[in-house]
Amino acid sequence: MKIETITPEGYEHVAKCEDPESGLRAVISIHDTTLGPALGGLRMWKYASWDEAIFDVLRLSKGMTFKSAVADTGLGGGKSVIIGDHRTGKSEKLFRAMGKFVDSLGGRYITAEDVGTSVEDMVHVRKETKCVTGLPKSMGSSGDPSPWTALGTYRGIKACMEEVFGTRDLSGRTVAIQGCGHVATYLARHLAEGGAELLLADIVADKAQALAEETGGKVIDPAEILSVECDILAPCALGAIVNDETLPDFRCKIIAGAANNILLREEHGQRLKEADILYAPDYVINAGGIINVSIEVEGEYDEERSRAKVENIYHALKRVFEISKAENISTNEASNRLARERLSRGREPAAN
Ligand code: NAD
Repeated sequence: MKIETITPEGYEHVAKCEDPESGLRAVISIHDTTLGPALGGLRMWKYASWDEAIFDVLRLSKGMTFKSAVADTGLGGGKSVIIGDHRTGKSEKLFRAMGKFVDSLGGRYITAEDVGTSVEDMVHVRKETKCVTGLPKSMGSSGDPSPWTALGTYRGIKACMEEVFGTRDLSGRTVAIQGCGHVATYLARHLAEGGAELLLADIVADKAQALAEETGGKVIDPAEILSVECDILAPCALGAIVNDETLPDFRCKIIAGAANNILLREEHGQRLKEADILYAPDYVINAGGIINVSIEVEGEYDEERSRAKVENIYHALKRVFEISKAENISTNEASNRLARERLSRGREPAAN
């Protein structure tokens, strides 16, 4: 196994690993451990080159630093990627080699599942390192993050409601959900219970249909979901759905969903503000999963403690909205500011 350090400026430690025996080609990026050990998932993707993989892992690990700082998880930001096809390239050997690579960092980086990896893969990683979360519940772990991400998103939607409509009551409000996958399913249940009317779209028509039947919602063509008239648009599928093309067509008052990287560029947050659409910054509202994992990292996993902390996303968003209003800046800029403040406070020497 050959491990090479390639840390660029602005990062704490970045290393690439090549292991011909298992076929592992991977990169781990530790962006910042000011607030705690760097935690972030392991992505397996068919990157065309090392450069592409490194670009992605650097971007993702920095995002994790900001997400954990605002969510107050006591964790830093990191991420890792394996270059390979997650449908054909997986083996126990590969993930055990990855486990050794993670272990070589001595606890500064903790991994978890992400796009292209699963709970079973993490079980193999665990055979070589303790620095892994997202294991099965039967192993004392925190289990599937999706219900927690959904709970946090639901609480975040309530904070948005209060901000825009002066009430948290969802009865009679329309929520359009793009994507009816893991997180959206749990979110739709919360929203339906809260009295919201749901408009649901998925490129896999059966998924939207099944969720509509369960929640009393209405199926919408995926091509129309972003421009449908509604109170709240909840993107729960892809990133970059707020862009130059989609912006003029939004007919909602709030954009608040679980998807990552909702804005194509940061400036699109300012454009939403100008259009009088309240945007819940993605990494603030979708932090439920990482918060749940952070409880596991603290020590023995405690579901009630996790619930209380995930529900606090409501207050985190309220704080973001306060900053946004006080400084007259977009909500995404406000959350970035909050993250930077917490990081610089973390860097200050402790007072005696
Ligand atoms: P998922 O794969 O279970 O669900 C995504 C759904 O979106 C799928 O059903 C897919 O068919 C659908 N979809 C894809 N493109 C679409 C389109 N153009 N229009 C309509 N539907 C489309 O994923 P998930 O775990 O539910 O995650 C959803 C989003 O939330 C992702 O962006 C993910 O990165 C983000 N997120 C998830 C978690 C988590 O805990 N799972 C945590 C943080 C962020």
